[in-house]
Amino acid sequence: MSFSEDCIFCKIVQGQIPSAKVYEDEKVIAFLDLSQVTKGHTLVIPKRHEENVYELSEDSAKAVFTAVPKVAKALKAAFDPAGINMLNNNGKAAGQTVFHYHVHLLPRYGKGDGFG
Ligand code: 5GP
Ligand code: ZN
Repeated sequence: MSFSEDCIFCKIVQGQIPSAKVYEDEKVIAFLDLSQVTKGHTLVIPKRHEENVYELSEDSAKAVFTAVPKVAKALKAAFDPAGINMLNNNGKAAGQTVFHYHVHLLPRYGKGDGFG
């Protein structure tokens, strides 16, 4: 597995810093976002350090997007949201702050739920 030394998500993958895991398989991990923009806000990431969509390998892309519907269903079952947004920021100018590829899953509960 290839990790980056200063990457907070690589540290989460390696268990060096704690996270609230909601899903894990050989190539992917999903955990609750520290900031919880909405209840159940979750990040789905490849275990391999790949910075953004331009670096994302086909293998990681397949693994991440195979996991996404499973995680979305788990969030639906756990939180019963009215809807869900799937977001991905690439590059500082696009709002990326952690440079390890990740997909945000944002459960939505209607007006005033904290997002949008
Ligand atoms: P970005 O802005 O890069 O798309 O999203 C990065 C996300 O990572 C932010 O929503 C931020 O709250 C989350 N985040 C940053 N550091 C940590 C951390 O140490 N643990 C968890 N669970 N989330 C983090
Ligand atoms: Zn990383």
